Amino acid sequence: MIAMHTSPIAQPGSGDAGGMNVYVLSIATQLARKGVDVDIFTRATRPSQGEIVEIEPHLRVINIVAGPFEGLSKEELPTQLAAFSGGMVQFIKCNNLFYDLIHSHYWLSGQVGWLLRDLWGIPFVHTAHTLAAVKNAYRAADDSPESEARRICEQQLSDNADVMVVNTEDEKRELIAHYDAQECHIDVITPGADTDLFTPGTDRNTERSRRELGIPLHTKVVAFVGRLQKFKGPEVLIRATAELFKRDPHRNLRVVICGGASGEASNVQSYHELARELGVTHRIRFLDARPPQELVAVYQAADIVAVPSYNESFGLVAMEAQATGTPVVAARVGGLPIAVDHNVTGLLIDGHDPATWADSLGELLDDDERRIAMGEEAVGHAAKFSWAASAQDLLKVYEEATKLDMSECHGPRQAAGI
Ligand code: UDP
Repeated sequence: MIAMHTSPIAQPGSGDAGGMNVYVLSIATQLARKGVDVDIFTRATRPSQGEIVEIEPHLRVINIVAGPFEGLSKEELPTQLAAFSGGMVQFIKCNNLFYDLIHSHYWLSGQVGWLLRDLWGIPFVHTAHTLAAVKNAYRAADDSPESEARRICEQQLSDNADVMVVNTEDEKRELIAHYDAQECHIDVITPGADTDLFTPGTDRNTERSRRELGIPLHTKVVAFVGRLQKFKGPEVLIRATAELFKRDPHRNLRVVICGGASGEASNVQSYHELARELGVTHRIRFLDARPPQELVAVYQAADIVAVPSYNESFGLVAMEAQATGTPVVAARVGGLPIAVDHNVTGLLIDGHDPATWADSLGELLDDDERRIAMGEEAVGHAAKFSWAASAQDLLKVYEEATKLDMSECHGPRQAAGI
């Protein structure tokens, strides 16, 4: 696997680390447990990382030095694609390795995967995770667009990958509509949630979680979890919170926003400022991004998890929250209508108007019976999505891909010297 721009073992929830990191690590772990040898190649960002990190039997992360460890933004990483590809080739040659298949994640890695596929004549599977054309179609009015250069690179991958793996049927439709992708080259693999880690808490878990987070026990809590950037819509929740307090200044509510800066450096500050401008600073607690083991407490402490994203290829946070028995109020975009069963495990909202969000959040906060029933349904719903099942489906895709005749359009394996 190739995950060039962000390591699968980086802390998700800030910077460029999010759902893709969780996806790659979770699915690779499950593949490894089925006996598949998986190496995940990523760009080294710290000298202390070492070249090879053994995660568990059959699974390694390989840190390839390509450019300086620090100081390059994701937007600048295209300058390191040649160095990264060269580093991968060198590592593979020196260690006398041979792979049956390449699976790249995100368009930067896709460009590397495409090159190596042609070099080695092995099948090339690509997962985009997000697509520039789709992000641009759904972005907030004041969010900056994804570059045309990225869209062009994604077009090349859609034209050249042997298989494109997407999260949902909706994403498949988007890939066909925006990139003219061939339907027969697309496979849908639904992501999962770690239901061993994200479990419903007992009342005592919830109490402990709230104490740890400094939230009064008899307060209603709405949580947002994820990278703090416009695309994830945290400002929608902040504005909806202000609207709820405008309607009822005595409402007993705390909002928890858990995640770190992502994209523009000023982002986190701008959310604090927005809360201040709207007079809800004391109603909102900002928490730093934390490892999944500590995130469980945030989900368990919440009465509702809000996912006001402008687009989500799936929305792992929605699934994880439900696995802990917390209903989700989410935007009706991307994969969220699959992740959330509307009116059963949560609510789906059209658009991002803070007043509409306040209506739905307020109604559900005030209806204990309905909310608790939704939380109970949510656990069963999340249980249907496991990473083990995703890996099983992916293995089938790999098996089909390895049957493809690679001799016609690509060079012979010998040419790679491995
Ligand atoms: N996450 C985390 N710690 C945090 C915030 C988020 O580990 O403080 C993880 C979260 O558990 C989820 C992922 O980051 O698995 C975010 O995935 P999602 O699909 O919701 O959003 P993306 O980052 O892909 O846009």
